[in-house]
Amino acid sequence: SVGLDQLLASPLAQARASLARLAQQPALPLPAGLYGPGRRNSAGLDLAVAAMRAPLLAAHAQLRVPPVAQAQAGEAPAAVARAAAAFPAWDARPVAERAQALRRAADAMEARMAPLCALLVAEGRKTWGDAVAEVREAVDFLRYYAGEAERVMQPALLPGPTGERNELRLAGRGPWVCISPWNFPLAIFTGQVAAALAAGNTVLAKPAEQTPAVAREAVRLLHEAGVPPDALQLLHGPGETVGAALVAAPGVAGVVFTGSTQVARLIQRALAAKDGAIVPLIAETGGINAMLVDSTALPEQVADAVVQSAFRSAGQRCSALRLLCVHEGIADAVIEMVAGAARELTVGDPALLSTDVGPVIDAQAFAGLQGELQRLRQTARAVLAPAEAPAAPPHCIAPQAFEVERVTDVQREIFGPVLHIARWSGDPQAVVEQVNALGYGLTLGIQTRIDSRAQALAARARVGNVYVNRNMIGAVVGVQPFGGEGLSGTGPKAGGPHYLPRFCAERTLTVNT
Ligand code: GLU
Repeated sequence: SVGLDQLLASPLAQARASLARLAQQPALPLPAGLYGPGRRNSAGLDLAVAAMRAPLLAAHAQLRVPPVAQAQAGEAPAAVARAAAAFPAWDARPVAERAQALRRAADAMEARMAPLCALLVAEGRKTWGDAVAEVREAVDFLRYYAGEAERVMQPALLPGPTGERNELRLAGRGPWVCISPWNFPLAIFTGQVAAALAAGNTVLAKPAEQTPAVAREAVRLLHEAGVPPDALQLLHGPGETVGAALVAAPGVAGVVFTGSTQVARLIQRALAAKDGAIVPLIAETGGINAMLVDSTALPEQVADAVVQSAFRSAGQRCSALRLLCVHEGIADAVIEMVAGAARELTVGDPALLSTDVGPVIDAQAFAGLQGELQRLRQTARAVLAPAEAPAAPPHCIAPQAFEVERVTDVQREIFGPVLHIARWSGDPQAVVEQVNALGYGLTLGIQTRIDSRAQALAARARVGNVYVNRNMIGAVVGVQPFGGEGLSGTGPKAGGPHYLPRFCAERTLTVNT
């Protein structure tokens, strides 16, 4: 006969026991957006877009976008005061009730997938594939932070001496200012707002000037889902005036910002100069994101990953690849393949289903990029140059790549479909150190067939998100928590388990019993 102890000691029994334990745990909620970019059918269409093409095109044809009302900087203090007055009641609601409101908004967004995509294409100049992925990401954020609030905001009993009860509780902090960018006008806007609201805060949302109607629609759905109007207020206008006035207004309990490093610094300085409470800032900014390719990498895989990472979304992602560091042994082959694959991309009107690369966001961005391209044409060797300017609509830029002498020649983030390439030889760790020295720390790609090397390089890199042997964009909520360090931001990572607590006050309660 076999004793219980012996049975439990056998590997099979241990595996069974741990499976049984696992089966008792609640299933992990599966995010809705587990579809990174680039899943294509034989006609080259994004699979999700192909499946939905009729409702998408119908929504596009019916789309009407009335203009939004601009706020004035002078309105900011009163708006913050209203948010402060609305805070106690929203914070006092059971967390499950706040979470339920966010889940209702998620359902509403999912149900309005086609019209939201049409708005993202029209106002955000997104391709249909990017638009579908963005609505899914926004829905994921709503559901993820709803679940996270329910998880982390349960009071935790802590061990302590007899005769004493110790409890740790998280609560909302007050009114948060949420300042979001045009490049993910729905997903990042919704993610910031959802996290702040889930934690019990009230919100003053200041979306990018370029994409106000997307924000208005998200706010409408959140209000319909049960968020009181004063708990979520939307103020349209320029960052320099309306954004700055919100940050400076008395009573602001926190600021969450996604945008440029330069503006993050301005906000940090403005907060530091305020009287009263010390106000936390969560900033997610840009990056000079590199991909390190060694001589064992598969050139076909590299080329695909480079084209996706550098040129999709017209390079207008913080996560996008800016600097390809390729070993000299395979550099020629990789460059040829990247150039060949990039020339296959269709550049043009984002409203056409066949478009891979749409225009950049506006005339100002286009002019800035033209200046950068002019400088690169004089200082670097063009290895991918468009034969001719793409046809309508305006502000389209075909993918371009330039070879530079050294990693350190790249000093600025160029927010468009423009790739730098640097060859290297010798020690790959030294290349990672050069990339670290640029000071940013958002994403890094590694392409190698030597697993131990990938591990060692990833361990040395001071970046938030490392992607090995794949593209380096499209972080999925709850799966690849996203955000960087150094010049790339403060953390905590959006879509990760440490994000929500940063929106909370932490309180310990000790009771002598
Ligand atoms: N989360 C996005 C990605 O992983 C980038 C967000 C951004 O551009 O700010 O591609």
